[in-house]
Amino acid sequence: MTIKLWLAVWAGRMAGWVSRLTGRGGSSLPGLVARRLEPATLTQLVRHLSWGAILLTGTNGKTTTAALARQIFEEAHRRVVTNRAGANLIEGLTAALVQAERWRVAPRAALALLETDEATMPRAAREIRPRVVTVTNFFRDQLDRYGELSTTVKYVARGIEELLPEGRLVLNADDPQVAGLRRDGVHTVFYGLELAEPTSEGDAEAGDARFCPYCGTALQYRRRYYAHIGHYACPGCGWERPQPRVRVVDWHPGAGWATVEVDAERVTVPWRLPGIYNLYNLGAGLATVVAAGLTLEAIQAGMERFKPAFGRMENLTVGVARWWLALVKNPTGFNQVLATLAESRLPSFGVVVAINDHYADGRDVSWLWDVDFERWLPRLSAQHWYVTGTRAYDMAVRLKYAGLSLAHITVETHLEAMLERLKRQERFETLYVLPTYTALLAIRRQLTRWGVTEHFREG
Ligand SMILES: [Zn+2]
Repeated sequence: MTIKLWLAVWAGRMAGWVSRLTGRGGSSLPGLVARRLEPATLTQLVRHLSWGAILLTGTNGKTTTAALARQIFEEAHRRVVTNRAGANLIEGLTAALVQAERWRVAPRAALALLETDEATMPRAAREIRPRVVTVTNFFRDQLDRYGELSTTVKYVARGIEELLPEGRLVLNADDPQVAGLRRDGVHTVFYGLELAEPTSEGDAEAGDARFCPYCGTALQYRRRYYAHIGHYACPGCGWERPQPRVRVVDWHPGAGWATVEVDAERVTVPWRLPGIYNLYNLGAGLATVVAAGLTLEAIQAGMERFKPAFGRMENLTVGVARWWLALVKNPTGFNQVLATLAESRLPSFGVVVAINDHYADGRDVSWLWDVDFERWLPRLSAQHWYVTGTRAYDMAVRLKYAGLSLAHITVETHLEAMLERLKRQERFETLYVLPTYTALLAIRRQLTRWGVTEHFREG
């Protein structure tokens, strides 16, 4: 421990306290401050951890996957440091480690489980030298920041080169671009879905990557779970979906459980999150802890107490209504949320969409045009849409073009004003609230002011 690192950590933590006292979120600030004083803060703090670090990346599902894996690790008495949802640039990762230090700069945790976006992946991996890298999926997301999908895949491939020599890779077998990241000589744990009941709901959706990563031929699918995710083979070079070690084989959403096979063993776990896409988060979380050496008993114990992650279909009571919150940030995620609403079978509900275009949301909101509202609107029993945020009018225009009558849309760009109005509404018993990232933070602040956010505290 150098004096320089000690100073960096404590300057960072002081900055964090001050920003919290003054009521600003600023969860990356401690990292920013610490790195000014000691650029190698992240590298040095990870080296202090007795077990090491896991790096989690991909377009969707990182937060749920991280929350699930963390729960299982902690139930197995391994203390985990994680970064806050959305604080996944290098300063956010550093902040997580800085906040986990004690006075004498001995870590509180045995391992770090850090989620990062794809563009930050090479740098994060270089500084962290992870023992496990988990990749969830690749979808068109925030193109204005990252360019084309192939660039995203290359970023992650470069990050994987920084795995420790004994490190392990956890890959989604059902996403061809992810499965194609496998490298000779790197121990890989694949995960995937092998449900007996085929779902065909994905057929009409526009996938992003249906071409073989090795020869570029269009892939053929025996089964597709959604978008380009499923069981595929390449007619060009013969490459096909790898056989996964961790397999979700059964799911009963009504009863709230899922069955997973790991090698030749089988375990049934409580599982209440909606949608096929969340089953992939289950697979990713379990494959991650398996790669880190945990047993099936530990998995079962940890799963008993799992609660969904921050912002993913949390629910709470506001006035006379139940509000369900789900983060939306790209077309695939938004489509999945709409699919979930279509499944809800409620006779009527209201939908609140809050679209901001701050940096953390992605400045370009043209992705709203890739959300398949034309397909979902007729299947939803939503009776009214409340549209808010800095880009409320873009969203309203999108809904209008999808065929929704303006009589069913209320627009209010000022988010707080919209929330005050919704707090008093008595028309709907159920409101689905779908914000982008910074809008979610703003909603959470407002809910805190109202005193209704107890279960929003991050653990
Ligand atoms: Zn091929």
